[in-house]
Amino acid sequence: MSNRIDPALAVLGEFGLIGRIRERIRHRSSGTVLGIGDDAAVLRIEPGRELLATTDMLLEGVHFRREWGGGFALGRKTLAVNLSDIAAMGGQPLYALLGLGIPAAGITLAEVEEVLAGLEAEADAWGVTLAGGDTCKSQSGLVLSVTLLGEAPAGRAIRRSGAQPGDGLWVTGRLGGSAAGLLALEMGLRSGAAWPPHVARPEWLGPEEEAAIQAAVSAHLTPVPRLTAGQALLQCATAMIDLSDGIASDAGHLCRESRVGVRFFAYQLPVHPGATVMARWTGRDVLDLVLRGGEDYELLFASGTDPRPILAGGAPGLSVARIGEVHAGPPEVTLTGADGQTDVLTGGFDHFRPGA
Ligand code: ADP
Ligand code: MG
Repeated sequence: MSNRIDPALAVLGEFGLIGRIRERIRHRSSGTVLGIGDDAAVLRIEPGRELLATTDMLLEGVHFRREWGGGFALGRKTLAVNLSDIAAMGGQPLYALLGLGIPAAGITLAEVEEVLAGLEAEADAWGVTLAGGDTCKSQSGLVLSVTLLGEAPAGRAIRRSGAQPGDGLWVTGRLGGSAAGLLALEMGLRSGAAWPPHVARPEWLGPEEEAAIQAAVSAHLTPVPRLTAGQALLQCATAMIDLSDGIASDAGHLCRESRVGVRFFAYQLPVHPGATVMARWTGRDVLDLVLRGGEDYELLFASGTDPRPILAGGAPGLSVARIGEVHAGPPEVTLTGADGQTDVLTGGFDHFRPGA
């Protein structure tokens, strides 16, 4: 791609692009009084409900490389990471606002439309209406910033702060998949593509391992927000957080907000099969991918009762594992290994840590 602006984008202009966005969106949330086109959207929320608001951005070169996944997956992920925050409150997503920074050069209108199509597909899947946004030229890479509004029954949103000593700690899905998928992308593998000839393939890596790597790449590029699980957990979770930075650090937030200690058992952590394969291939510690990899977007929650019957009804097919317990000790996260040895867990992703 050349270093000048795509002529199609130049012809369309900022307001033409907004017009395109406006044409493509569908209104799925019944409270849309006024959507795109005015100075602000007008949105109605039902009595007895509270408004949830969250925002997360994806920056080219920090969170993604455009050559990795294609625009459609990127658009989906932009919304999905925000949906995951609403899921972690037990909420229902309603409206999204999209901040779009389009690189001054190096992207085509067709690529921008792919991103928008992915975002719309994800919005469609969860009944979300794109109600507005902002569009600018970016002097660095592509900037995708979503603000998501949702709702929860008044007084019921599940906070990080409610965990009680004696609660069990549970996690949905499998961990380490997203970090493993990122490693695979960095090694040159691509989603749905055959093994690239320029990447040396270990002789032990058979079709089953390759399928596990592909599942990990999907987990990284198109995480599935655990919305139905989060809503079902309104019935039993005392505290909840979604796993965006790695369970080592996210569990730390939960235990500090709840003023409790958290103990994990290493052998109970549900390891993504792709993490096992990528750890073996790259020499990384699989436990490090599981604990500190980040971007799994699974739900970590505390519950005084067994959540499995509730999740079997609310989110059928989603696995859930009991990985530890809440205790009255100091607000730190410890990990007990199979040998009984216990260590305090630190780490997880931090944007401002040197080398991140
Ligand atoms: P203002 O100058 O009043 O902020 P804008 O010209 O930025 O208004 O936006 C006009 C309308 O288009 C608004 O309704 C805004 O929410 C919407 N809009 C702008 N950019 C986007 C976008 N990327 N996605 C969705 N809606 C957008
Ligand atoms: Mg205005």
